[in-house]
Amino acid sequence: LIRANNISKAFGEVKVLNDISFELKKGNVLSILGPSGSGKSTLLRIITQLERADRGSLYFNDKPLFEDDGSKANYSNNKIAREIGLKTGLVFQNFNLFPHFTVLRNITEAQIAVLKRDKHEAEDRAIALLKKLSLLDKAKAYPSQLSGGQKQRVSIARALAMDPEVLFFDEPTSALDPELTREVLNVIKQLSEEKMTMAVVTHEMEFAKAISDHAIFMEGGYIIEEGDKDSIFTAAEKERTRQFIHSMS
Ligand code: ATP
Ligand code: MG
Repeated sequence: LIRANNISKAFGEVKVLNDISFELKKGNVLSILGPSGSGKSTLLRIITQLERADRGSLYFNDKPLFEDDGSKANYSNNKIAREIGLKTGLVFQNFNLFPHFTVLRNITEAQIAVLKRDKHEAEDRAIALLKKLSLLDKAKAYPSQLSGGQKQRVSIARALAMDPEVLFFDEPTSALDPELTREVLNVIKQLSEEKMTMAVVTHEMEFAKAISDHAIFMEGGYIIEEGDKDSIFTAAEKERTRQFIHSMS
């Protein structure tokens, strides 16, 4: 579903991503591990078009979002970029809900504005998702009236309402205390059992090990090691990878 080749990105003089390559197959889950500042969020922001790559190529179902011509990453036209954008969803660490909209409206807004669904259709979809995430009783509440875990489940519902082909999570539980973390991780785990294609930046090692098919470990803007679940979480080759996973477990 996604193929990334040699993605690089600098902010001014600082290179934050260096030749990042990976693949994400349909129905698989990829975890992106690494210490603070290693470039994980920047990578997700490039894939979800919140940031632009300098070098490299990125393909969705073999269609390029950008492609390297030997000197820089060339972006496809707006129509293709938009088409690809509609297939990707991103869930942030800090929820990013609209504070002045109800839960229901938070979930229907983009369906109506972007997907041009009519209000009833959007509300039906929102209500089905709220039911699935055990939040139906919160449909009329405002974000400020919810716990952190509930807010994060609403933002997951909002992302799912757009019917993305792939969902990205950037430290979805790092703003939550342990009890609320569990309820959010359980939702993501349920999605993985339903074969939703996902990439997850997380410091929750047990969780990452449980849901991932593949993992990459990044540091200083480089992929230090990558592999399938077992090779990374139980038999990493690089001492640095083992050390990091151990320190987070
Ligand atoms: P964390 O685990 O703390 O979220 P991260 O792995 O997500 O870290 P990034 O947020 O991708 O790391 O940041 C990678 C590097 O890029 C950092 O050194 C950061 O300071 C720098 N950086 C990120 N965004 C910008 C920006 N807009 N302008 C300048 N530097 C940036
Ligand atoms: Mg980050």
